[in-house]
Amino acid sequence: MKKFGFMTVNPIDWNIFSVKRSGKKWIVDLARKTCTYNKFQMDQLPCSHALAAARDFTSLCADYYKRQTFIDAYSVPIISVGHPSTWVVPYDITKWVVLNPISRRQIGRPRAGRHVSSSERTIGS
Ligand SMILES: [Zn+2]
Repeated sequence: MKKFGFMTVNPIDWNIFSVKRSGKKWIVDLARKTCTYNKFQMDQLPCSHALAAARDFTSLCADYYKRQTFIDAYSVPIISVGHPSTWVVPYDITKWVVLNPISRRQIGRPRAGRHVSSSERTIGS
């Protein structure tokens, strides 16, 4: 058993851990990079449960978030398209007319506020 902040981590096997906090339990699989909370696999970044169970954080992040990926993405020069007056556009395309999408206004008065997510909570209440 390992404590990580308010979380308790219990190994199930070498890569699978049970993480508990406030009576809730999540199962983290570090080899498959999954958590039963689903945020780990959605974001491809370790969630708090995975961080609690992890031995090495960097191997849990997808390559998209790594420094070398950003360096490689911008290593190719970006060529400007220039001013629109200099573009060579085929004649048949210049005749196209692009209209706004057809939409209907919803019935009733527009909402004054937005829907508050269940994950958001008011401080002090
Ligand atoms: Zn998680």
